[in-house]
Amino acid sequence: MNIHEYQAKQLFKEFAIPAPQGAVATTPEQAQQAAQSLSSPAWVVKAQIHAGARGKAGGVKVARNLDEVKDYSAAMLGTRLVTHQTDAAGLPVNSVWVEEASAINQEYYLSLLLDRESERLIFIASAAGGMDIEAVAAETPEKIVRVPVHPAAGLQPYQCRQVSAALGLGKEQQSQLQTIMNGLYQLFLAKDASQIEINPLIQTADGKLVALDGKINFDDNAIPLHPDIAAMRDASQEDAKEAEAKQFDLNYITLDGNIGCMVNGAGLAMATMDMVKLKGGAPANFLDVGGGTNKDKVKAAFKLILSDGTTKAVLVNIFGGIVKCDVIAAGILAAVEEMHLTIPVVVRLEGTNVEQGLAMLKDSGLGLYAAEDLNSAAEQAVKLAEVDAGSRPSSTLTSSMEGGRP
Ligand code: GDP
Ligand code: MN
Repeated sequence: MNIHEYQAKQLFKEFAIPAPQGAVATTPEQAQQAAQSLSSPAWVVKAQIHAGARGKAGGVKVARNLDEVKDYSAAMLGTRLVTHQTDAAGLPVNSVWVEEASAINQEYYLSLLLDRESERLIFIASAAGGMDIEAVAAETPEKIVRVPVHPAAGLQPYQCRQVSAALGLGKEQQSQLQTIMNGLYQLFLAKDASQIEINPLIQTADGKLVALDGKINFDDNAIPLHPDIAAMRDASQEDAKEAEAKQFDLNYITLDGNIGCMVNGAGLAMATMDMVKLKGGAPANFLDVGGGTNKDKVKAAFKLILSDGTTKAVLVNIFGGIVKCDVIAAGILAAVEEMHLTIPVVVRLEGTNVEQGLAMLKDSGLGLYAAEDLNSAAEQAVKLAEVDAGSRPSSTLTSSMEGGRP
């Protein structure tokens, strides 16, 4: 999960990492009032979106008077900002962060992330901050220092001195850096972050190290442990479908094809997509409805699959292990009925109470297609997706109860 820069800066303050004073605003008037309440000769208006590279895209503006604060805010709020870190549609600017402007002497890069190779948290720092760190890493990797932290020993003072030397800091800044690195390390562990990035970390004209920007990613699996972090979620910044999926605890990813797949279990979902491909079709999505599914989840899953209008057939492949097949069948029937589904739905059920489940589908009169196995299910879904709605063969729902079931 991502959060906004202003939220990252709130957390920085909690962990003694200096950041400029500021306030968040959702209207130009609020932005102006925010600026007025900060005694500063100039302000920076920053579009709050879940992406970086805003500076080059017009999402970071230095305002020299209160009218400029209002004008810049008005120009950003309510628009979508496209940066080279977003897609072509950009992200909505629903709020701006107004902060006191800083006099920059030097820009550095500092981040802390989980390095899977060394299986440790690792600090990454560079004196070439403020720029595209990926370009620095690719072209001049010697300008980047990497310092892994031993999990039992924790961050050691000598490691802070190592980073300080790499950044070319003086004695006074070295002790400031140690405070910042300690804060980052504590914050990372306390909130189950997966990455914290300060780019740029600046040295001000009067020699203070300040986090001018802040980006924090959190481990999704740990979010339930941190209600304060969970409350920072901004669904407007997330893929609408994927955000809705999250609400229902569904794992959903949009793909290019036209066969909607509703499957439980990531492995079975992968196998189903492979099978669709093998039969010459293309999946419209990856969807894992999870182990303990219910009627509402199945309905939400159908809604997601059908919402973009490109889906020509739905392939349901569910193994009733934790959840029973008759419960799945009830969910499918409710969804199909309530949504007045007009595209064909191929269902392959297997597992506990499969006979009841299939009988329910069969007796429904809703024209669902039941398949004996995954092979024929995929084949049928691909065939149906190719057929025009008008010339579609009539339902071939057959119970496979007598089949060679183990
Ligand atoms: P990003 O482009 O989304 O990463 O946004 P940043 O917060 O990093 O801001 C982009 C750039 O704007 C920074 O690298 C700075 O050069 C500049 N900038 C941001 N805030 C200030 C400020 O208070 N004073 C000055 N002089 N420049 C700033
Ligand atoms: Mn930045």
